[in-house]
Parts: sequence; structure tokens; C-alpha cells
Amino acid sequence: MDNPEKFMNKPENNFQINKNMVSHNDYIGHFINGKNELCDGPVRDIYDPSTGDVARQVKLARKLIVDKTIQAAEIAFLKWKNTTPIKRARIMFEYKGLLESNSNFICELIGQEHGKISHDALGELQRAIENVEYACAAPEILKGAFTRNAGTNVDSWSEFHPIGIVAGITPFNFPVMVPMWMIPLAVVCGNTFILKPSEKDPTATLFICQLLHEAGLPDGVLNVINGDKETVDLLLRDHRIQAISFVGSTPVAKSIYEAACSHGKRCQALGGAKNHAVIAPDADLDDAVDQLMGAAFGSSGERCMALSVVIVIGEKKADTLVEKLKSKMKYLKVGPHHNTDNNFGPLISKQHKEYVLSQIQSAVNDGASIPVDGRHVQVSGYKNGFFIGATLLDDVETDMESYQNEIFGPVLQIIRANSVDDAIEIINSNAYGNGTCIFTQNGALGRYFSNNVNIGMVGINTPLPVPISYHSFGGWKASLFGDLCAYGPDGVRFYTKRKTITQRWQVELGKAGSHFSMPSSG
Ligand code: NAD
Repeated sequence: MDNPEKFMNKPENNFQINKNMVSHNDYIGHFINGKNELCDGPVRDIYDPSTGDVARQVKLARKLIVDKTIQAAEIAFLKWKNTTPIKRARIMFEYKGLLESNSNFICELIGQEHGKISHDALGELQRAIENVEYACAAPEILKGAFTRNAGTNVDSWSEFHPIGIVAGITPFNFPVMVPMWMIPLAVVCGNTFILKPSEKDPTATLFICQLLHEAGLPDGVLNVINGDKETVDLLLRDHRIQAISFVGSTPVAKSIYEAACSHGKRCQALGGAKNHAVIAPDADLDDAVDQLMGAAFGSSGERCMALSVVIVIGEKKADTLVEKLKSKMKYLKVGPHHNTDNNFGPLISKQHKEYVLSQIQSAVNDGASIPVDGRHVQVSGYKNGFFIGATLLDDVETDMESYQNEIFGPVLQIIRANSVDDAIEIINSNAYGNGTCIFTQNGALGRYFSNNVNIGMVGINTPLPVPISYHSFGGWKASLFGDLCAYGPDGVRFYTKRKTITQRWQVELGKAGSHFSMPSSG
């Protein structure tokens, strides 16, 4: 950090985040109008999932604080909407530098509350920064389109106007990257923003938002309120908020989408996933196994793009794949976030660990075999951590509960199929439509697969086809409610409303006459 004193405790800022803040009973509050707010109200424990201990507590915003935040965002919007795009972009340039110079601290905060190993947290941060870099192009992406001579003596152009106050609601699994899918683009488009991060790991999120303020964002343009369903409901019902960007699980995404629409808001709500990899008969198995290891078990499988199902074409190929996976999985290391030798860390909570264990058990009860069983993993010195080791389930069928549910843990399920068409049918019948991937050496087969699979993001020999920041991210079916994806060009469309202006300037006035037919461009 360049200047740690900036983040030290001050009388009015009694929860300032700083590098020493790792002790018990530290409260995380809100960041409103450029200031920290530690209001009265309910609190919730935040756990260090590596130790199972309470790391600190978070305050949950209620009506008073939500109102105060919306008011701040409303006042800030009056000025911010008219700042020049180049000035907004300059703040993003500055911000990129601050994120980079604070990267170790940010990754440490992610690790403390999420449990992500620091190399994985750094990857998350890098992806976040790419969205900031895209937002640096604000003057270019907001310049609109102009047509001279749309008609005789008539010109026409489209402008992109900010929509007002946008609220973002984000999940626990990417406390830095997912907020950055929203905030940089929303604010460079001239909107003001209220973020409600996950209450399970809000500290890294709060810190990066403070950094954006530090980079020069005016008071009130970005505000963070911590909270739960009650907080979100207050945001959804408030008429001053124009749009909601949500990322989280499917049931919540669906209910938020419906509530936002019923309150007249624009909404994009990204949901859960069940991502399949297909191993074609000609796939290079050693390469596929290497790719699958990271995509299935990285981040403990708590990624919305994690590959959680492998469909293998042919029994013999499936047997060989299982043997190769077994021989690699035994070297996987699970443990606390700060040990970079570990491949992945704990799950987010005790409850989630119990849920993942219950899904493994239900697969076994339903007849799946378990060639690698990570349920009883012991991490020395961390007996209360929320760890599960990498687990492989074979002979999985599509009617099993463990197949139909999103498990969100280090669990890879194998389905055996007879053809790529059978695999496509399985994938297309699944409720989710986030990501998928095929491993093949046959370009035509890869193309056939990507053309016929009903999934929003497709990889060919690429296990995690997460679009780069200047494309857009979003699934199909129950993985996205709404019409526009997150970030990139769709993000710009989501965070702006179009105004189209048509002007007529006649050199010789009074000579055009009146016309009663529909004007056309002739
Ligand atoms: P979650 O749905 O439990 O919570 C997400 C956010 O919604 C949090 O801020 C939470 O406080 C809030 N929330 C929770 N319940 C709510 C309710 N009933 N009403 C209003 N708000 C509520 O999700 P999570 O467990 O934090 O995150 C994991 C999920 O997110 C997984 O399903 C994962 O696939 C999904 N996810 C999807 C994407 C994507 O791009 N599609 C990206 C990341 C995560």
C-alpha cells in the first residue's frame, strides 16, 4: 500500500480497513458518501474458513442507512452525470494503479474471509483489473453514432445517457472480480452506484471500493452497504433506484429479477450453473486431465464456471480417464489460503461444507461409484476449517439429485455416453446454461458442438471459457435472467439509455413545404 496511514483509524471512521485489522470483534460497516459509517443494527459473524473461527463481524444495513445511501447517490448523480467521460476515465487509470500496488493486501483480505489461495486470489484480482482497463476507454465507448444526411438537410445521432442510481448485489465466491464486472463500467457511464456485497466475505470488497474513492471518485458516486435479504428488499422496492445488477444463485436471481421488474427497474440477474465438459473420442486425455484438474477443483469448485460434470464418449475412454484423474488427484493439496503450495482452500462455511457432503452422499446412495473420496480429508493444524478434499464420482446418471443440483464444491461427476450428440442432448436438457467445453482434436467437431449446444459460453479445448473484459459474460437458461450480459459491450448497454436526436437545418427557410406522408430517408 502506498500510504497505509490513509486507511488507519480516525475518530469518525472507527472501522477503517488497514493492514493490521485481523483481530476479533472488528466490525465492518458501510461506505456512504465517501465516509465510513458504523450504524446501529444487527451484526453477522464473518468466518475465516481455514480455521473455522470468527474473523470479524459485519453490520447489516436497515431502512435508515439504506435511505441515507440512496440520498447520497441521488445528490451525487446530479453532478456526476455531467462530468466528461475523459475525467471519469482518468479516475479509472489511477484506480488500476492503486489496485496493483495494493494487490498483496487485497489477496490477503480475500484469503481471510473466502479461503482462496493467494495465487488464485491474484488471478481474480487480475480479472477485476481488466474490467477497470476496459472502463478506461469510456470516451470511446460512449461516443455514440452520427449520421449526416439521414434525410435532406437532416442529421441524426444516438447518445448514451446514464440511467441514474444502479444497485449491485454480489455473491461470496468472487468478492473482488464480480463487483468489478459492475462498478467501473456503471460509473464511467455516468451513473452512481450502491453495492451490497456478500455478507460472508465483504471486507476485500469494501476495501477496493474505498480505493476507488481514493483514486478520485467524488463522494456519493460509489457507496457500499452491507446487509442481507432485508437490505436487498429495501433496495428493490425503492423507486429512486433505476437498475439492479445481480450475481448469485439461481433461486435468488430469479426472485430478484421478478421483484425488480415488478418495481419498474431494469435488471440483469446472473444465476448458478452446472458446467459440463465433453471428452470426445479423439481428445488428448493427458491434456484434458490437466485442464480438468484446475477447472473442477480450483477455488474448491466454488466458481460459477467450474467444470463439475465430465461426459466421456465411450466406456474405454471413460475407464482410462478415471485412472488418469485418480493418479493426479492424489497429489492435490487442500489447505489454508496463505500456503501457496496448496491447490485450493476451504469451502466458504460450515453449512456449505455440510451441503456438499450431503450431495456426495446422495450420489453414492443413488448408485454412483466414488473412485476418489475427499470427505475425510484432514488438514494438519486446521481441524475446524471447512475443508473437503477433491472428490470424483463415476457412473453418475442425469436423474440423480447430485447431478441436478449445483454442488459448488471440489466434486467432479462423470457421466458415460455413447456419442457427442448424446452429450449435447444431456447438456441441452440441463436447467442451467452458463458454460461448457469440449476436448477434441477435430476442429469440425468443435464447431458442430459450439453450434448446437444451448449454452452461453463455450470452450473448445479451453476449460473455463470466461469471456475477456471487452466481450460480455452471461449464460443462458436458468443462468441468466434478463436480456443483457455482464460487462463489456452488454454492460455499456445495460448502464446507459439511448437518446436519438434528429435535426433539420434548412439553408433557405420556408421552402420545404408541408408533407403528410410518413417521413423517410429518401
Ligand atoms: P446467493 O444467491 O446466496 O447470494 C448472492 C447475493 O444475494 C448476496 O449478496 C446475498 O446477500 C444476497 N441474497 C441472498 N439471499 C437473498 C434473498 N433471498 N433475497 C435477496 N438477496 C439475497 O449466492 P452466493 O452463495 O453468495 O454465491 C454463489 C452462487 O452464485 C452460486 O450459485 C454461483 O453459481 C453463483 N454465481 C454466478 C455467477 C454468474 O456469473 N452466473 C458468478 C458468480 C457466482
